[in-house]
Amino acid sequence: MTTALVSEQFIQIIYLISAALFILSLKWLSSPASARHGVWAGELGMLLAVIGTLLYRGIVDYTWIAIALVLGTIIGIPLGRVQMTAVPQRTALSHAFGALCVGLVGTAEFYLRTPQIPRFMMAVLSAEVILGSLTFTGSLMAAGKLQEILPQRPITYRGQNIVNMSLLAISVAVAVYLVIHPEDTRFFPLMIAVPLLFGVLMIVPIGGADMPTVISLLNSYAGLSAAAMGFVLDSKLLIIAGALDGSSGFILSVIMSKAMNRSFTNVLFGAFGQVQASAAAAKETRTVRSATAEEAGAILAASNSVVIVPGYGMAVAQAQHKVRELFDTLTKRGVNVTFGIHPVAGRMPGHMNVLLAEADIPYDKLLDMDAVNPDFPQTDVVLIIGANDVTNPAARSDRSSPIYGMPILDVDKARTVMVIKRSMSPGFAGIDNELYYLDKTLMLFGDARAFVGDIVRQLSGDGHA
Ligand code: NDP
Repeated sequence: MTTALVSEQFIQIIYLISAALFILSLKWLSSPASARHGVWAGELGMLLAVIGTLLYRGIVDYTWIAIALVLGTIIGIPLGRVQMTAVPQRTALSHAFGALCVGLVGTAEFYLRTPQIPRFMMAVLSAEVILGSLTFTGSLMAAGKLQEILPQRPITYRGQNIVNMSLLAISVAVAVYLVIHPEDTRFFPLMIAVPLLFGVLMIVPIGGADMPTVISLLNSYAGLSAAAMGFVLDSKLLIIAGALDGSSGFILSVIMSKAMNRSFTNVLFGAFGQVQASAAAAKETRTVRSATAEEAGAILAASNSVVIVPGYGMAVAQAQHKVRELFDTLTKRGVNVTFGIHPVAGRMPGHMNVLLAEADIPYDKLLDMDAVNPDFPQTDVVLIIGANDVTNPAARSDRSSPIYGMPILDVDKARTVMVIKRSMSPGFAGIDNELYYLDKTLMLFGDARAFVGDIVRQLSGDGHA
């Protein structure tokens, strides 16, 4: 039985609108001012794509689709409610589900069509299954590392890269064989199992600090596999959406690697994160200057220009609304307050922009690294809130540092530096920060939300100081 609820042309028009919305969504997402529209456009595009697919005349029975929709909704709702700081692992899980789906569809299509599979079709089907399988296990591993269910540190052994490259080569060899002999179904399970194993082993040597970049790369694999699936299923929408996903994920990984001054090879094979804590241990005896909220408030009140530098700690503490109060209080006093945003502050690109936009901080006050760096020598006070690695001068001067070469915010050039954090613990890269020992630096020890709240109270309490 076929259900021709609507004409094929109508479905194609829905798909066309959906594809246009995906493109607009990506365009709007590139600026904080239009990002909300970008999210809505993406959501609407996906809703239309789902509706268009449900109207497809080839569907013979809706029972299993309804069950899948209910199950997907049950899993999806809690996934959508995770904390911002857990978004990278949440995204990795989404890639894992998408890739699993792609792999399963590819498998079903192979067994439905074999042995009459044209060579081109078999080639794209192989790409779909290989990319889908390795992205599935790779994304699960990445999510596990970020959630700290799995050890974050890179696990390496001799000959690791050779083992990994051999697995990839075996997968490609099997694919080539199946393109020539699609009727030889014995080899097809190998084309699933080997990439599944490769996905696990590919992530094992990569440290937690590099996981967000890897997730972005896996995003691009998931997109490419979906595009390959589009060729297999003859769906232009899937080809377009997959290509958009593939290319945007790739561009994002390039941006992240650049912001950390790392090459792809270094991210994938560099075992970054192994050199840890030794520096911190060596510096234990060094002293730092600390200050209270009252002292910090007085210094801020007496300044003309303040640059606030937020980082991961602000996100964890959910301090953005208190930061907004501080911004308002200081602005009312005539202090010029701007924000210096590092491209990889936090745990994903744009993390800080999203949080500060949520707290309604005007977009024009958010300056990216290149725009704010020339301002630091003329800045009275830099207030760092839960940022660490992105302000570490070792990236500029210490050739032995694992973050050497990473572009940083030149906060040490300001007249006074104040740092809110709870302890002397290192940041994500696991290294000590020379900034904290400078004469001009004051450490403000405490939770970011509580400490900023205390400063605001001080400023409001002695409001005429
Ligand atoms: P870091 O991880 O370097 O430092 C965060 C600091 O926040 C810590 O030193 C911690 O110190 C402090 N902190 C944690 N919780 C709180 C709290 N409740 N209140 C106050 N402070 C707190 O963060 P950055 O944003 O500076 O740097 C991001 C790091 O993530 C970089 O190493 C970057 O390379 C990496 N990364 C980021 C990606 C991205 O896309 N954004 C992608 C890949 C990697 P303490 O424990 O003492 O409080």
